[in-house]
Amino acid sequence: MNHLGFETARTLMGVIILSLAAGLYFAIMNDQRESSVENSDPSDPPTSNHFLYSKSGYDLTPLSPEEIERRAEKLTPQERAILLSQGTEPPFCGGLLDNHEAGTYVCRLCGLPLFSSDAKFTSGTGWPSFFQPFDPAHIRSVADSSHDMTRTEIRCARCGSHLGHVFDDGPAPTGKRYCLNSAALQFYAKNSDLPPESKPVTAEIAYFAGGCFWGIEDRFHQVPGVIDATSGYQGGTVPNPTYAQVCTGSTRHAETVRVHYDPNRISYRQLLEYFFQFHDPTQLNRQGPDVGLQYRSAIFAASPQQLEQAKEYVAQLQRSPRFHEHPIVTQIEMAKPFYPAEEYHQNYHAKHGGSCPIGTNLPPTAP
Ligand SMILES: [Zn+2]
Repeated sequence: MNHLGFETARTLMGVIILSLAAGLYFAIMNDQRESSVENSDPSDPPTSNHFLYSKSGYDLTPLSPEEIERRAEKLTPQERAILLSQGTEPPFCGGLLDNHEAGTYVCRLCGLPLFSSDAKFTSGTGWPSFFQPFDPAHIRSVADSSHDMTRTEIRCARCGSHLGHVFDDGPAPTGKRYCLNSAALQFYAKNSDLPPESKPVTAEIAYFAGGCFWGIEDRFHQVPGVIDATSGYQGGTVPNPTYAQVCTGSTRHAETVRVHYDPNRISYRQLLEYFFQFHDPTQLNRQGPDVGLQYRSAIFAASPQQLEQAKEYVAQLQRSPRFHEHPIVTQIEMAKPFYPAEEYHQNYHAKHGGSCPIGTNLPPTAP
């Protein structure tokens, strides 16, 4: 098909979609959902109070119903009907349809970035259209069989607000068309000042070595407020060591877990408390059956403040009944370069089993 033919076909398709969509709009507007909505997203947030983060570094912890209601107070009646009652705005009426400025589209209710101007395209449908989300984890897909149609509704992953639908007739490279209500979005031009809820979490880093990194990494992944944990090598003398080199002990690296954490959700002190529940700090250069310098207990401080806190905490811990007559041998020093371990070591227990839920068989809480 030549270019003109393609354009004509696109226009025709747009008219058809528009006709269907306009009919659908009148059917849906101010209408309560008739059919049952079944959640189709396996990555649906759990109901526990665990904090959630996206790979792009945003806090995705679901908002409570009270918080949603508090934020909804700022909405106009039309925005409320769309976001909270699955309404649809009339085509060609939304304020963001013809916006071609560079910037970010965030959730009108909670501020989570949902789409970037880079993925916006003119679909001809009358609603703002994008071919991919800002981060796939920021959007929840929900099967929607209302009005005798099978569609996929899209919602904000953090606040659950209704955003629009996604269809399989979009352009390359995804072939998807995310069809949005302008009223569900707030636009921030590039370089404008974003509100705190639209910014990624400012993560901090901590390093812990306590035997085989598979287990320590797996446990830190489960700690509320931890954004990510990575297995690697720290505290040695050879750049870019391999696992085989580290195993010999000659590089003097320790199998270490790098923890990215959200300081608004968990403190360094609390990470220290978890760490000393995750391993036995009285074993010198070993941890259970794993023997060698690479399995030593160590804290590599990312800042002088961490160094001071770690030393203070260990001194306090040493005076507790748990360590009476059992010296803590944990090495505490400033962090050297960290080298992530080979890919097959990452998320090892998640991939191969052997994960131990934290909170079971733990020693008494540290002082
Ligand atoms: Zn939201």
